Amino acid sequence: MQQTLSIIKPDAVKKNVIGKIIDIFESNDLEINQMKKIKLSSENVAQFYAEHKNRPFFTNLKDYMTSGDVVIIVLEGENAIIKNRTLMGATNPKEAETGTIRQRFATDISQNAVHGSDSETSAKREIDFFFPKI
Ligand code: GDP
Repeated sequence: MQQTLSIIKPDAVKKNVIGKIIDIFESNDLEINQMKKIKLSSENVAQFYAEHKNRPFFTNLKDYMTSGDVVIIVLEGENAIIKNRTLMGATNPKEAETGTIRQRFATDISQNAVHGSDSETSAKREIDFFFPKI
């Protein structure tokens, strides 16, 4: 069993498709281990996306990720990391395969409905970031 972190981003929360996205996870044998709906601060986003801090779209990313509530989910299942990335589709929804979450629900390349950890190392870091062990 493997765990990965998913975020349903503000554009998808505003479109009222949290349930539709969770249904895709559950229909593909990913279970919800932990989940919370919160509003991120700029500091949260700067820390979480530290690897992107010098990218030209970073200010845009911070404004977007703090523009409304997000749903943070720890998903669990066999090959959860790669499975979630496949279900999400490409970063740019124009390039995302038909039926993927981003093809169905993303607004554009910057407002693209979901985040998913891209490796075991990032999954561990991201899960600890939002659900620190007490
Ligand atoms: P992901 O792992 O597929 O989410 O993609 P990245 O880690 O490369 O990028 C993180 C997030 O930054 C993406 O999901 C988008 O919300 C945003 N982003 C990435 N590339 C671009 C871009 O070229 N322009 C804009 N405006 N936003 C981007």
